[in-house]
Amino acid sequence: MKLIKSIIIIIFASIIFLIMTCINTYPERANSFEILGYNNEDINLLKNKFTDAEIRFIINNRIMKRKLFPYLELSYFSLTEIHAYESIRVKQNVSHLTAVNLKNHPHIMDNFYLKINNALNLQQNLILVNKNYRLSADYIPDNLVYTKDIPLLIDDKNRYYLQIDVYNALKALFTEALKHNLTLILSNGYRSYEKQAKIYEFYKINALNADAFSARAGHSEHQTGLALDLTSESASYLLTKEFENTKEGIFIKDHAHYFGFIVRYPKDKSHLTGYDYEPWHLRYVGIEVAKIIFEKKLTLEEYLLYYTEMPLT
Ligand SMILES: [Zn+2]
Repeated sequence: MKLIKSIIIIIFASIIFLIMTCINTYPERANSFEILGYNNEDINLLKNKFTDAEIRFIINNRIMKRKLFPYLELSYFSLTEIHAYESIRVKQNVSHLTAVNLKNHPHIMDNFYLKINNALNLQQNLILVNKNYRLSADYIPDNLVYTKDIPLLIDDKNRYYLQIDVYNALKALFTEALKHNLTLILSNGYRSYEKQAKIYEFYKINALNADAFSARAGHSEHQTGLALDLTSESASYLLTKEFENTKEGIFIKDHAHYFGFIVRYPKDKSHLTGYDYEPWHLRYVGIEVAKIIFEKKLTLEEYLLYYTEMPLT
C-alpha cells in the first residue's frame, strides 16, 4: 500500500513538473518575444536569420523589435555589436546605415596615418583612398589609357594616363569648357606608387607640412587612375588656389559634377580630408554620385558613410 502511494506521488509530481516546465519555458519564451514587440511573423523571420544562440542573445539582452529591425537589411551589421551601433546612432544623430559604417570605419576622417586600413571598393568608381586607406605598391588599375586627345601641360607621357571612363568623361568636360571659350589643361593623371613615393619624399625634405598637400605612397588617389589635376593659362599653368578665381576654375566648380567629377578636397573640409583646399584636383565618381556630393556639399568620405554600405575590408 505504501509503495503504491509512493508511486502515485512520484507520477503526480512528475506530471506537475512537466506541466510547470511547459508553462515556464515555451510560453515564457514566446511571451518574451511579445514583450519585446515581436509577433509570430517576426519570430519566424528571426529564426530564419539567426542561430539559436543569437536568438538567446536577443532575448537575454532584451533587444526590442523597433531597435533591431532597421538593421536587418544591412549587410555588414553584426548582432552582437548592436549596442555599439545604437550608441553611435543616438549620440551622433545618424541613420542606422551610418551608425554601422561608423562603427566599422571609425577613423575614415581622423587620426590621419595612425589607423591605416586597406583601400575599400577596389576597382570601382567609389574606391576609397585617403590618409587611412592605402593601396598596395603593386596596385595598378587595369584599364588605363593615354589621354592623347586633350591639352597636356608638358611632354611627359608617363603623367597622362587615366582609366578609360575617366578619360572619356574628361574629354566631354573639356569640350563643354571650349563651348564657354575656356581651355583646360591636364596637369597630372595616374601616378604609380613609386613615383608618389619620390614626390612625397621630395616635399617632406623641401617643404613645410608636406602632408597637407602631398600624399604618402599608397595613399594618393592619383594611383587609382580616377583622379587628375587641372590647370589653365589664367592660373599660370600652376596647381594653385588662384585657380578657384579664374574663369576656368569657376567653370570646373560649377560643371564638373555633370560629367561625374567632384572637387575632392573642398574648401572648409580640410579637417575631414587632411588636405588643404585643392580646387584643381578632381576625382571621378560617376555622374549620379557626383550630383549628390555636389548638391549636399559632401566629401567622398561623408558620401560613403551616409549613402553606401561600406565593406569591412
Ligand atoms: Zn591631385
